[in-house]
Amino acid sequence: MSGKKERNKERREKRLQEISLLRTIPYSDHQRWWSKETIAVVTGANRGIGFEIAKQLAGHGLTVILTSRDTSVGNEAAKVIQEMGFNLDVHRLDILDSESISAFIDWIKHKYGGVDILVSNAGVNYNLGYDNSVEFARRVIETNYYGTKNMIKAMIPVMRPSAVGARIVNVSSRLGRLNGRRNRIQDANLREKLTNLETLSEELIDRTVSFFLQQVEDETWQSGGWPQTFTDYSVSKLAVNAYTRLLAKELSDRPQGEKIYVNCYCPGWVKTAMTGWQGNIPPEVAADTGVWLALLSDQAITGKFFAERREINF
Ligand code: NDP
Repeated sequence: MSGKKERNKERREKRLQEISLLRTIPYSDHQRWWSKETIAVVTGANRGIGFEIAKQLAGHGLTVILTSRDTSVGNEAAKVIQEMGFNLDVHRLDILDSESISAFIDWIKHKYGGVDILVSNAGVNYNLGYDNSVEFARRVIETNYYGTKNMIKAMIPVMRPSAVGARIVNVSSRLGRLNGRRNRIQDANLREKLTNLETLSEELIDRTVSFFLQQVEDETWQSGGWPQTFTDYSVSKLAVNAYTRLLAKELSDRPQGEKIYVNCYCPGWVKTAMTGWQGNIPPEVAADTGVWLALLSDQAITGKFFAERREINF
């Protein structure tokens, strides 16, 4: 292993040890703004990182709604957490299906009156190792970007006003960094437009992902200057990151008492089905930054991107 790789590995291991330690420190009474009346929804929570986020939030004493696109798998996963004595409910939710989203929103409004936290975790990736197939690009973009966005839009009207503010946490990826040193969009002009909050718009994000999908269809995407690693997935997460910043800006106009804070984070390379269990960190550690963001008592944080509880650049 090269010296640089070795140092990076050491740094990552040290940070993971710090995170393990931070996880053992209980929240103090003045930090605990939540109670069992606080409702947190986690998408794609039947396994992997989503399951861990649901378990940890429930462990902190919130009421968690574990959602899953497969009812019986969701019920089985929920049972595991319920048997730990935590408050956890379960409901079907497929973020690709607008009827499933509406049915979920109706149910939650009727049963709980509203929601305080949304963790948008559901996602797909069909590449492993050195693969870079775009065979499922449309599904990846539809799920990771449009599904996440549609779910957030449906959820905002049922997010409850509160003094501490409601929270949205999007589980994203460093692969979607706009200005990373590697794996970024080559077109500096497009990067600048997507980076600058004055020029960033939902239409620009949608247009960017549509252009990518058009190039996939035309089989010209390889020379299109797109990220080089897991291209479809990277474009989908780039869109999630850009949408997080845009939404934070749009939501910042809301009056005090009706604030909604929205951030995203990269969980690292995680041992889950998505990586064929090849990742280097366990889901319980990967869930940590998402849980921490959902429970932040510092209300000023919105529109940011985190990894291992530290802010990173988009
Ligand atoms: P998993 O594949 O283990 O879990 C993904 C979850 O998303 C599953 O519960 C899956 O449901 C669900 N899901 C997929 N499509 C939909 C849909 N249309 N509607 C509702 N739920 C859906 O992956 P991870 O736990 O690793 O990934 C969780 C998140 O973390 C994803 O957003 C991923 O992109 C992100 N991430 C993961 C990394 C990693 O190294 N693992 C790295 C960076 C980011 P089902 O079981 O039915 O398929």
